[in-house]
This record gives sequence, C-alpha cells and structure tokens, in this order.
Amino acid sequence: MLSVKVSFSLPNPYRNEFVSLSDSEHTVAFKLDEGTNVARSDFVDLGVISSFEGRRLLGQFSFEYTYEPDRRVITVCGTDFDSAGSMCLTTVPQGTTEYCRQRSAGGGFVSDELAANPHWNYLTTLTPGLRDVFRGIVRTVSDRLIDALKKVPQLIVQVRKDPPEMSAEEHQQFLTVYRGGKFLGFHEPGRQYGPQDEIFTVDSVFGGEVTLTYGEAFANVIGSTNDPKIAGLSWIQLWANQFGTYPVVCTSYQSNGFNCGNSLVGGHVIGGTHASIVPQGSNSVWILPICIQHNNNDNVYMQALKYLKGIWLKNYLGS
Ligand SMILES: [Zn+2]
Repeated sequence: MLSVKVSFSLPNPYRNEFVSLSDSEHTVAFKLDEGTNVARSDFVDLGVISSFEGRRLLGQFSFEYTYEPDRRVITVCGTDFDSAGSMCLTTVPQGTTEYCRQRSAGGGFVSDELAANPHWNYLTTLTPGLRDVFRGIVRTVSDRLIDALKKVPQLIVQVRKDPPEMSAEEHQQFLTVYRGGKFLGFHEPGRQYGPQDEIFTVDSVFGGEVTLTYGEAFANVIGSTNDPKIAGLSWIQLWANQFGTYPVVCTSYQSNGFNCGNSLVGGHVIGGTHASIVPQGSNSVWILPICIQHNNNDNVYMQALKYLKGIWLKNYLGS
C-alpha cells in the first residue's frame, strides 16, 4: 500500500451572510491499494453555513487511480483531464446528505447531483465566487497529489491527458496503420491498403504522460515498427509537441558506455531491462527520444538520464 499526504488552504477567507470559510491549512491523506480504485480522504472541516442552522461544512477529496505495484506504476487523471475519475471535492453540511461535487476539470454531474439539495448549493448567486474558490482548491490538491506521487522513490507516474492540439494536417501525420493487429507504420497518403489494414488516430492510443525517476531502466518494444526512420520522425514530433521542446540528445545518453548517435527517434519502450514483445491492448508502452543506435539494439537496456518524461500510450496494438 502507498500513502500520500497533500496540504491546502483557501487563498483568502470566504465570508458572507450565508457561508464562512477560513483560510487555515488542511492536510488530507490518501491510501492507495493495488488495482483500480477510488481513493477518499477523511472529511475536513472547511467552515460554517450560517444560513443552515450554523452547521459545519465538511469536505472530502476523492479520485480514481490504478496502482500496479509489480511494475511500480501509478496512473491518475491530470488536473485538466475531464473525467469522472479526476480529483473531486465533495462538500456536505454536517449531518446531511446534501452533497455538492466539484471536479478539477469539466462540470461533473451538477444538475443531477443538486436536485435534492434544498440547503446546500454553492452555484447560486447567494454565494458569488464560491464555485471558483472550490475549483481552485480541487485543482491545487490535484496538482499537489501528482507532485507528491512523483516524489515517491522508485514510483513511475502516468498521468492521463488529452493529446496535444493538432491541425488536421498534423493529425494526419499521426494516423497509424495496423495490419493483422501488428503495427505496420504511419499512414502514407497514396499507398494502397488492404481489408486487413486498420487505421487509428492518435486519440485512440494517446494515454498521457509518464514521469520516470532518474536512472529508471527501460528497453525497446520488439516489433513496434518496421521503419524506425519514418516512424521515428513522427513519434519524436509527438514527444516534442507534448513537452514543448525538441529533444537534442538520447534519453539514455552513453549509459553503461553505449556509443549513442546523434540522430534521434521517438522510441517505443517499456519499463525494465529486457526488450520484449508487448501484448495487444497493453497500457505499458511509452515513447521516449532515443538514438537510432539504441532503437535498433534489443540486447541492451536504457536508462532515463537526459529526460524523465515520455508519452504514455494506451491500448497498444502492435505485435
Ligand atoms: Zn542512445
């Protein structure tokens, strides 16, 4: 089991004739078990609702995660990822079941959830700005949770994100073709494809970002491409788009005395020290910038030395 703590406070006290919230600091703890689960903090006391018998206002944070201890990987939603699994602040007047939910991104299920709340609904004009206050808190807690996870020694953190914004032309560059379930390469306009070929958009395989710890071992996915040069250019561009910088050196530069080259590709890699075939549907493939020499050598493993962040692919369809 993994446990993490996150602290937060309101940037300013919130006070009007209906609700008063203090700006004192709170700390919430989450315990994370193996598998896909929802983590819930204890309720914290956020303030008082004077308009409702002076009841205390309690808040609880929750989020969905997947923890794979054998791979040392935790997967959570990014703060901007609009999902029912993203960080959520549930507020409730003490002793009632009038729940209001605020998620870090998107709107959640507000209309349904508020139907049975005669006393506690912070979306009305009676509490101006309160929704923004809660949204700020839940986003802070989400950001700090992700930071806290990245600080856990030896833990690999995968964060669900939307693919970077792309023009229609760029989108076309990331169309991939699978033949009989195996990665064939990037879609080439004008090339003839057969009935056994399937074309996928980047949205169907883009999971988000992965952050490795320094020195983490990784190895090639065998059979991820039959043309590393063409494929590499586009995958490396995807990496560059995601992280806002074009890679200039192999992630595993000269690790264990390896003679790296200057030409880089976006390599399909997995955690660990053994290059291997990855089963279809796997969520364990990452894209990291590596030199062509490393990309073509399945007998050595690599290490995260120059870059710690990669693209995380979901529903990998290769091999
Ligand atoms: Zn290299």
